[in-house]
Amino acid sequence: MQGFYDKDLYRIAREKMVKSQIVARGIKDEKVIQAMLKVPRHLFVEEALRDQAYGDFPLPIGKGQTISQPYIVALMTEALELKGKERVLEVGTGSGYQTAILAEIALWVYTIERDPDLSEKAKKVLLSLGYKNISLKIGDGSLGWPEAAPFDAIIVTAASPQIPQPLVDQLAEGGRIVIPVGDEFSQILVKGIKKDGILKIQTLEPVRFVKLVGAYGFKE
Ligand code: SAM
Repeated sequence: MQGFYDKDLYRIAREKMVKSQIVARGIKDEKVIQAMLKVPRHLFVEEALRDQAYGDFPLPIGKGQTISQPYIVALMTEALELKGKERVLEVGTGSGYQTAILAEIALWVYTIERDPDLSEKAKKVLLSLGYKNISLKIGDGSLGWPEAAPFDAIIVTAASPQIPQPLVDQLAEGGRIVIPVGDEFSQILVKGIKKDGILKIQTLEPVRFVKLVGAYGFKE
């Protein structure tokens, strides 16, 4: 027995999570469902929290930050409409869990985290799981990653007062961006599709994320 759960029990907890939190709430994209069944979420949280990793809530990952609720990870990933050949930018690596989900589906994931300690921790877990299609960077993700642009999809996993213009500029024509927009306390998940250089916006769900801190986000 390795702590409260052994490997099989983690798999069973993951299957239950996907059935009761993801599929039951209307996520239909089979690629997203398969990725969530596969990625060992418990390895992205500290050992003391592993038996809670498949619960229907976010969890602390240190430095005042969180790993998002599984359903929100699934909802945002599905909204990116990934088919498998995309180059994706993620802003807010955090634990690296969302990064792994994206790496399961897309061609390449570029992920930016402003906190060097979190980035380093995420890198270790992602390398230990064998991912070879991820580039990590430490910095202000509200500025995007101009050298790697354009991106077919962009996901921002921290709340911003508006959609950062550099991210709009770095999104390919036809590309999708998903980002929580609002103030510090309440936000709405926004999906934008770039058509003729302009974002066509639709809103998804009310959400609550930690702040995107940066030049085009909130000030420190
Ligand atoms: N996707 C993550 C996961 O699966 O664990 C959760 C991300 S957490 C909700 C938000 C992250 O965004 C935090 O780790 C925070 O440090 C980071 N962050 C905040 N502002 C940022 C910025 N301007 N650039 C890059 N990362 C930022």
